[in-house]
Amino acid sequence: VKKVDDLIIGAGIFGVYAALYLARQGRRVLLLETGKQAMARASVVNQARLHAGYHYPRSIGTARLSDEYRMRFMEEHASCMNGKFKHYYALDQFQSFTDADQFQRFAQNLNLKCEEVSLPEFMKGERIKTIFLTEEISFDPVALKDLYLSKLAEEPLVELLLENSINTVIAENSFWKLGLKNGETVLADRVVNASYAGTNGIHQLFKLPKMDLNYELSEVSLFPSKNLNGLGLTVMDGPFCSTMPYGNSGLHSLTSVLYTHHAIAKGDFPEFDCQSGNQNCLPQQPDDCNICSVKPSSSFEKMKQQLSLYVKDEFLPVSGTSKFAIKVKLKSSQIDDGRPTQIGLLHENPPFYCIFAGKINAIYEIEKVLNQ
Ligand SMILES: Cc1cc2nc3c(=O)[nH]c(=O)nc-3n(C[C@H](O)[C@H](O)[C@H](O)COP(=O)(O)OP(=O)(O)OC[C@H]3O[C@@H](n4cnc5c(N)ncnc54)[C@H](O)[C@@H]3O)c2cc1C
Repeated sequence: VKKVDDLIIGAGIFGVYAALYLARQGRRVLLLETGKQAMARASVVNQARLHAGYHYPRSIGTARLSDEYRMRFMEEHASCMNGKFKHYYALDQFQSFTDADQFQRFAQNLNLKCEEVSLPEFMKGERIKTIFLTEEISFDPVALKDLYLSKLAEEPLVELLLENSINTVIAENSFWKLGLKNGETVLADRVVNASYAGTNGIHQLFKLPKMDLNYELSEVSLFPSKNLNGLGLTVMDGPFCSTMPYGNSGLHSLTSVLYTHHAIAKGDFPEFDCQSGNQNCLPQQPDDCNICSVKPSSSFEKMKQQLSLYVKDEFLPVSGTSKFAIKVKLKSSQIDDGRPTQIGLLHENPPFYCIFAGKINAIYEIEKVLNQ
């Protein structure tokens, strides 16, 4: 029988950050990960935008929170940042949920740079109403992964247990008694659920209320930065697309509101048709799409076609490789498109906390809630 102070479920950036934070306070932590590697899901498969707030003209709360943590995140992860590109935010003439005045006012309120500029050389003007030069940079998800894996390796109070999960749960008065897949029993004073797409699967196991979530099976296309070196473009605010450096990797990401999401699940769990072709991928505990033989086929060509509405042919990517992850959103964010991070105590004796992640730079929310 293993005894720990905290058992954290899920070794994405939120689970890893929580583990390191608690270990610094002298707590013994077991970090449980179902996958073969830590930080292999949403924490590396994302658009790598260090949100300053521009992206959320309909959710001032998310915009403010992004901005609040941005400087600290940049300082503490300086080696993983790429600020060496011009990031343009453009408003499409048609179907945009925001207009130039509104966008600029919103940026001014947040003290964000938002300078109206003439059409840059790489862009086509037909669809564009207004274009702004902004100050929004990208982080390097792979460099962040390496940084946090090395921090974990140096922290003796955290044990990372890969390819494992919880099979049985008993709540004793002051601790949890948990049976693991590998046959071990763990006694933990506290449990922290940081499993993102697995959140409700864990809540079901612990007989706790499920969160109201939507799940999107998402693709991020990556292509060599060559043609768009030093440039990023986000077309706002509606069914548009975005391309920007994927940190310092020499790759650009390409995403599109219309084509990035291959399937949406609106029930309690991420349940998708493709799961019938992979018996290891359960709605309660989804597998890693990137090692799955029945993952969706890429929408790179469709996304590229959409990008070609705004970018001249000679700047377009030729080919791309794609990564997939399940993106999870609160149902309550459907209207304002916000991405709050929620951390809550769901069970008191013994304690069970749930961390539901919005944006990567919100990891610091953990420090407000999880303490000795
Ligand atoms: C397509 C896409 C684009 C995004 N773009 C951005 C962006 O530009 N900027 C930004 O800041 N954020 C972005 N996000 C959001 C951001 O990626 C997430 O908020 C963040 O990565 C969540 O981190 P996490 O640690 O909670 O989740 P994850 O990284 O998914 O980690 C959760 C871990 O839990 C494990 N797990 C699940 N179930 C179990 C179980 N039962 N037992 C044990 N382990 C389990 C998983 O294997 C996984 O390793 C994007 C997300 C997606 C998907």
